[in-house]
Amino acid sequence: MTEGIETIFTAEQIRARVNELGAEISRDYQKRSLVLLCILKGSFVFAADLARAIELPLRIEFMGVSSYGEDTKSSGVVQITQDVSTPLAGEDVLIVEDIVDTGLTLHYLLQQIQTRGPASVRICSLLHKPAREMKKVAIDYLGFTIEDRFVIGYGLDWAQKYRNLPFIGEVTNP
Ligand code: 5GP
Repeated sequence: MTEGIETIFTAEQIRARVNELGAEISRDYQKRSLVLLCILKGSFVFAADLARAIELPLRIEFMGVSSYGEDTKSSGVVQITQDVSTPLAGEDVLIVEDIVDTGLTLHYLLQQIQTRGPASVRICSLLHKPAREMKKVAIDYLGFTIEDRFVIGYGLDWAQKYRNLPFIGEVTNP
């Protein structure tokens, strides 16, 4: 299953970085309770690990967003396919994303979430690909910056597959 895939970040490297992010977030929010807003599908693995690295009372919510279809190029069209189960008004919301690429998805999501009256909104993304940025979004907590390559694994898919790889890699031999 991992033939033709070049490892970019090993499971150990990811674990270490996620633990650092969890410690930073725990320090910054100072015992306040938090809503972790996991953006489906790509960030479900990251959010599960990050949640366990944060030592704060927290609630987990999920939002489904689709921007890519089955292709590897952004269509620029963002659609909310699933919404949160309880209101975000008055809450400290931490958006958990797998990767910020063009920034279009997060730019749209941020606007949507702001209209719901949260106490605060911050962004935590595992990966950032600055080379392809079209909309600037400030990432408060960032795992790794990567070059312009299409990565898979640790929640990230290629045509819905490879999300279950424990590491992050690039398909070198499709
Ligand atoms: P953006 O709107 O910032 O261009 O794209 C955000 C979404 O596109 C991510 O949440 C992710 O689902 C998808 N995406 C962007 N780059 C990659 C990539 O390198 N690999 C995978 N698997 N998905 C990506």
